[in-house]
Amino acid sequence: MKKKILVANRGEIALRIIRAIQELGHIAVAVYETPDNAALHIRVANEAVWIGDGPRVDYLDIEKIITAAKHYNVDAIHPGYGFLAENPDFAKACEDNDIIFIGPSSQVIRDLGDKVTARRIMAEAGIPMVPGTQNLTAADAGEQEALEFAAKYGYPIMLKATSGGGGRGIRLIENDEQLKAEYPVARAEAKAAFNDDNVYIEKVVIRPKHVEVQIMADRFGTTVHLGTRDCSIQRRNQKLVEIAPSLIKDQSLLDEICDTAVKAARAAKYFNAGTVEFLIDSEMNYYFMEINTRVQVEHTVTEMVTGIDIVRTQIKLALGKKLAFAQDDVQIRGYAIEMRINAEDPQNDFMPEGGKTVSVYRSPGGYGVRLDGFVYQGFTVPEVYDSLLVKLTVHGFSWNETVDRLRRCLKNYNITGPKTTIPFYLNLVNEHDFQQGDFNTSYLDNHPELFDYKVDASEVNKLARLIAEIHQKKENTYAI
Ligand code: ADP
Ligand code: ADP
Ligand code: MG
Repeated sequence: MKKKILVANRGEIALRIIRAIQELGHIAVAVYETPDNAALHIRVANEAVWIGDGPRVDYLDIEKIITAAKHYNVDAIHPGYGFLAENPDFAKACEDNDIIFIGPSSQVIRDLGDKVTARRIMAEAGIPMVPGTQNLTAADAGEQEALEFAAKYGYPIMLKATSGGGGRGIRLIENDEQLKAEYPVARAEAKAAFNDDNVYIEKVVIRPKHVEVQIMADRFGTTVHLGTRDCSIQRRNQKLVEIAPSLIKDQSLLDEICDTAVKAARAAKYFNAGTVEFLIDSEMNYYFMEINTRVQVEHTVTEMVTGIDIVRTQIKLALGKKLAFAQDDVQIRGYAIEMRINAEDPQNDFMPEGGKTVSVYRSPGGYGVRLDGFVYQGFTVPEVYDSLLVKLTVHGFSWNETVDRLRRCLKNYNITGPKTTIPFYLNLVNEHDFQQGDFNTSYLDNHPELFDYKVDASEVNKLARLIAEIHQKKENTYAI
């Protein structure tokens, strides 16, 4: 039976989801704000609904999106990542209006979106985690609780917004003075950013690896994992490069972490796709960090190494199907690396380059190469959204082969107009520790030389001119 599925998102993930909907023979309904009126997701969808001038407020407007969904007789909504994806009120509004929310239940999203509640559920299930506090009391008493925690466990500590996400709302605190100074600020910022001023403290794992596990669960009690991803290469607690599987050589440790992730998902009564995040210290102790209740940006690397279409599976599970595969069917083949190609200037503190027009767009291809993007030649990158242009994911038989393939792709990638993170990534793939698979969350701090490069504008322009001649008048070279 054909279903109508609304995609409550934009950019590359909207396109990714629309593709899966259409492959399944369903009807994809896009929504968009005015700054996105030239975006590809609108054109590729079967129907598109303008929801307002935005920016961002309409993509975040639960009432508007539910109204649109009802007006267009939508059966299900896929929230993607970001925007309303982890908003329990949105999932609840879908439930209350008999619209299938493609994700777990609103209650699960509410529980796990609150990091303190998530930690409590996981502690009860015996999942290992770093010591931490409950929500700190507002004002002076909370400061006192924080100081006592620090006295007991020692600095540094992590002061975290309970409702935080996307790498925001996390502060590394080194001493009492800093704690006293930043405690009220952290609360105020948490309130402003997440509409919840609760904060709590975690002991810091020093130079950890970030390893996460992809989970898929149906509503009939089957929960499987799709192996690990390493997302240690981060800037300001935000992921830049993601790898599947983790390069940790101790396979029995990785298996144990995956089994723990399944246990964590079961403890949370999880269904649909989710990600259980862990930190691993230098002694290979692992600690639960959080569960993300949605498709991740980096789901592509897992798809490449397992062959399983995560978004297709998400949709089928939400429509009531059982998982089509068991744990033993999931085989990890080779390695995959994803790089987030952002319209940002890495040499200027990753300053966004929105507002600029892509004058040349020339992408690499070939064996083991996957692109998830939404820009095309002539497209002006909106200033008002995030700066992700395209995710370059490559797959290879071995780690070395994958790195070689990635280097080749980055060299062949030509995006002219906005500055991008490509030249920075080219330095990264040529860096020794990266090539050895030796990195943790301090990697970028330890490699300032990666920011030292020159883009040879004359070469880029020469190529741009040549390509412009070839593509004369062909405005769109993006392959849908
Ligand atoms: P978010 O919800 O923003 O993703 P997370 O809790 O997942 O926040 O943390 C994001 C990143 O911050 C982690 O990948 C890690 O690099 C760092 N981090 C978070 N908690 C700790 C901790 N206790 N010790 C060390 N690093 C941490
Ligand atoms: P389809 O939509 O083609 O009927 P299924 O619902 O059977 O697919 O499975 C959903 C996803 O799981 C697809 O990406 C498919 O490739 C993958 N998959 C199905 N069966 C297996 C299996 N035995 N082993 C590994 N992956 C599988
Ligand atoms: Mg996280």
